[in-house]
Amino acid sequence: MATLRFKALNTLNSRAKVQVDIPSAKVSEFFGEDSFGMKQMLSALAPAVYKKVSEAIKNHEKIDPETADSVASAAKSWAMSKGATHFTHWFQPLTGGTAEKHDSFFDPISGIEKFKGSELVQQEPDASSFPSGGIRSTFEARGYTAWDPTSDMFIYGKTLCIPTVFVSYTGETLDTKSPLLKALKAVDKAATSVCQFFDKDVNKVVAFLGCEQEYFVVDRALFMARPDLVMTGRSVFGHAPARGQQLDDHYFGAIPTRVYKFMKDFEIESWKLGIPLRTRHNEVAPSQFEVAPLFEEVNAANDHNQLLMDVMNRVSERHNLKVLFHEKPFAGLNGSGKHNNWSLITNTGVNLFAPSSTAKDNLLFLTFFVTAIKAIHEYADLVMASIASAGNDFRLGANEAPPAIMSAFIGKQMNDVLDELEKNGNVKIEKGDNMYMKLGIDQIPEIILDATDRNRTSPFAFTGNKFEFRAVGSSDNSATPMTVLNLIMADQLLDFHTAVSKEIEKGVEKRMAIVGVLRKYIKESKSIRFEGDGYSEGWVKEAEKRGLSNIKNMPRAIEPFLSKKSIELFERHSIFNKKEIEARNEIKLEGYIKKVQIEARIMCDLATNHIVPTAISYQNKLITNANGLKGLGIDNTGVVATIKEISGYIDSIKENVTKMTDERRRINKISETDKRAFGYCDDIREKYFSKIRRAVDKLELLVDDEDWPLVKYRELLFLR
Ligand code: ADP
Ligand code: MG
Repeated sequence: MATLRFKALNTLNSRAKVQVDIPSAKVSEFFGEDSFGMKQMLSALAPAVYKKVSEAIKNHEKIDPETADSVASAAKSWAMSKGATHFTHWFQPLTGGTAEKHDSFFDPISGIEKFKGSELVQQEPDASSFPSGGIRSTFEARGYTAWDPTSDMFIYGKTLCIPTVFVSYTGETLDTKSPLLKALKAVDKAATSVCQFFDKDVNKVVAFLGCEQEYFVVDRALFMARPDLVMTGRSVFGHAPARGQQLDDHYFGAIPTRVYKFMKDFEIESWKLGIPLRTRHNEVAPSQFEVAPLFEEVNAANDHNQLLMDVMNRVSERHNLKVLFHEKPFAGLNGSGKHNNWSLITNTGVNLFAPSSTAKDNLLFLTFFVTAIKAIHEYADLVMASIASAGNDFRLGANEAPPAIMSAFIGKQMNDVLDELEKNGNVKIEKGDNMYMKLGIDQIPEIILDATDRNRTSPFAFTGNKFEFRAVGSSDNSATPMTVLNLIMADQLLDFHTAVSKEIEKGVEKRMAIVGVLRKYIKESKSIRFEGDGYSEGWVKEAEKRGLSNIKNMPRAIEPFLSKKSIELFERHSIFNKKEIEARNEIKLEGYIKKVQIEARIMCDLATNHIVPTAISYQNKLITNANGLKGLGIDNTGVVATIKEISGYIDSIKENVTKMTDERRRINKISETDKRAFGYCDDIREKYFSKIRRAVDKLELLVDDEDWPLVKYRELLFLR
């Protein structure tokens, strides 16, 4: 094994430079050239057809068969002119990642290339091996994919990819996109009705998302020489390097050349696909980086994020690099997240989370702002459930990412505004009085614009004109957190609308009715507001006093999905029925069990077959040495002590590996999925992982570097 490590290091040292094809054209000239969206349809379709398509998309309506035929024909001509030979429905099953099944345009029966509207609109992939959480038994779990015209088609390789939803024949959703689309529709409807209190011209509200994506990059040969990274995406062993991130010198430092080339390369590919990448920089940990696009409509932004991860994976191969999206690839160093920047914007161009320069519009802003905080307060546990994953468990609350406690940071200025509103809400408005001034909300923009206070320790932070949900894991699909966030917002907005309407019916002046409900919300949601250090021990205690949950493991963190309150919420808006929620949780738990199982196996395998034999053979060398010293009459206590120390760690590994394996056998027999998941969480992961790891990492420090079989952290993180 040590040979594998040194071979990998040799490969790294003799790497030839990779050339990147940088187009001579400006980005604006090739941006989106491989995507087929509204712009391309405008030039490819007859005006009447284009009008039908764009109307249907705008109003979430069905596209009729003739129109679909025209779109299919135009898409086929466009794709073939770019060398595409196949098409596929591209969807996001519950396993995570994306799925596709390719069909050729060429039809062997007629001998020509064909692509019918019906093939664009609907396909029937063999769905039997995608998880359905027991909704239907596997052999009959047939589903179909249906075109999502709100996300652009694109060419990937030689294939035209068509974004689709994935549903079963009985109508249950089997993917992450269907519920997201429904939640976006719900928030549009609810937000529009609330906006109507202020402005009759608002007839649509769109949710926007900008995903900041964090990731690690390591050399491919070194990656391949670490079976744990290959199998699980994270290192189960590895002693912290002498130099970690304590110097803080990586953050915003110069990007290393090899990685820089890789970034350029995947940026170009992404731009061609219409992914609006904007920002790149180093992150806190060595070899950790971030890429961020310009925000887009949530659905498109999320599809683009999923596609981006795929592009990055594929492009990294060309550079002999490997990109790691795992939430915690390296112990002791920062993990990676996918910060979801979220806002709601009206068809009239108003960002509802942006304070305005007029007092009247500030009441609109406050309505959405306070309602968002109230929604988070109301459904804090569900929001945390939406981002729970096996990988994220390692990251949350590890003094580098927000804790597993939900809270909202709004900044001192907004706190003052809310406090003021809460206190002074009972103002009497005399004739000619400026109500807004009395309420202290006439001057929000001035104070907010220079209010640059940031809080990196909060899971949900207001950043001036948007909320940043920072708890999402780096490998996750943002569809689920975005479904929950937009849905709870929709629900709270409807509640707001009802409450205000009731007051108005009673004869209360509209603005005062609005202020009245907002004051109530501010009072009720206070406990979710926290401005301090989210990483501190003090906050954990304080949060407990406030009654906020702090659930640190995924099998329990997803339970709030099954609460009566959540089920009613999902059913009220026709997102999921109870059966679907249960099925989804079941799939998540199964996934969790498998992940921990694989990690446990790889740990046993590496410890038993690689680490222990290496330690024993090194120990034998020491024994020879100790005997030699003794023969010469030289004091050998130092060597003997090391021999004993090594024995201790070997014994500890053997004992814990055996116990963990026995424990797994016991847990595997448990029939209830949730109990099995709890078992894997409490009795495998919590109980044995760190014990085994500690012994292995100690041996790494004792055993001769020449003999050590696993590529070390310092090599993975600092050598390029
Ligand atoms: P930061 O300083 O937190 O990195 P940025 O301004 O760079 O903030 O924004 C980060 C992400 O937020 C980007 O993807 C950006 O496009 C997105 N973003 C900016 N404004 C909005 C908005 N109104 N709605 C949603 N996302 C937004
Ligand atoms: Mg940010």
